[in-house]
Amino acid sequence: MRQIKHIHGDKPSHWVGDGFYVKPFINYSNSTPDFNYAHSDPFLMLDYSEPMNFAPNPNYETQPHGVGQHPHKGFETVTIAYEGEISHADSTGGRGDILKGDVQWMTAGRGIIHEEFHSPNFGQHGGVFSMVQLWVNLPKKDKLTDAKYQTLKRDEMAVVQLTDSNDNAIGKAAIIAGELQGEAGIASTFTPINLWDIELDSEGSTTLQVPNTHNVMILVQQGKLLINDTLVDAGKLVQFAEPTGIDAKDEQNTINTSSINTSTTDTITLTYQVDGNDSVPAKLLLMSGEPIGEPVAGYGPFVMNTQDEIQQTFRDYQTGNFG
Ligand code: MN
Repeated sequence: MRQIKHIHGDKPSHWVGDGFYVKPFINYSNSTPDFNYAHSDPFLMLDYSEPMNFAPNPNYETQPHGVGQHPHKGFETVTIAYEGEISHADSTGGRGDILKGDVQWMTAGRGIIHEEFHSPNFGQHGGVFSMVQLWVNLPKKDKLTDAKYQTLKRDEMAVVQLTDSNDNAIGKAAIIAGELQGEAGIASTFTPINLWDIELDSEGSTTLQVPNTHNVMILVQQGKLLINDTLVDAGKLVQFAEPTGIDAKDEQNTINTSSINTSTTDTITLTYQVDGNDSVPAKLLLMSGEPIGEPVAGYGPFVMNTQDEIQQTFRDYQTGNFG
């Protein structure tokens, strides 16, 4: 079983532009006893916008809520629209809407300048808005790859049943990226990553197998559940202990034959209990990824490997040689 290392609780939310009120659960630049980037590598940052209501914006055509043009370089942004809609436009001429349930996987790579706003449709009508933005690092060899987008539609994602020990379904998982029970996600990733969007609606326990070489986090968005033996409610990010798999790349690792585990997975148990008539399904996002293990130097929207590369990126940006 993969143990829980830390539960990130009530972080104060802050505005990103005037459209996204987010809890910054993790950031690679933070270093505390509870969290540093080694615990989440390759995930650099997780911002979560809890469900909140927006009034109709009378100026949605000319002054949409959101953030105007800004650059990114050296990593990927993954935007999941849970409620509401986001419109994006960028320096390559790309433009589109991320609709409810859909995911945009943007590879900034060598550089992109984009803007992110509430869509005209959402701005006009208002309503509940909720999203995740996850920053995924790129390995050094891929940092200067061409910028690109993947638009991942909810109705194209594989969905698998999550069952208890008697084979009764207690919920389901949509596979955004990676693989679960032999079903593959539709996202193409540069390093091994799982993103599973999970909903539990019937009482019982299910056991997930996660690669024992991956860092793992679970964001609980709605309801409450036991994760392993710990009760976790909505608005929390669970960060698991370090991977248990032997790292073959680590020459220093002396192999203790008595502790070799031939399994390549660790287990995580999810238990959902119906609690009275007003129970809501538990909704959670599981993120796992194989650590890249390279040095990280970042500033604002740029994440490279060295300070020299960051300074060069600033010079390129200021002189119009970006991307
Ligand atoms: Mn952005």
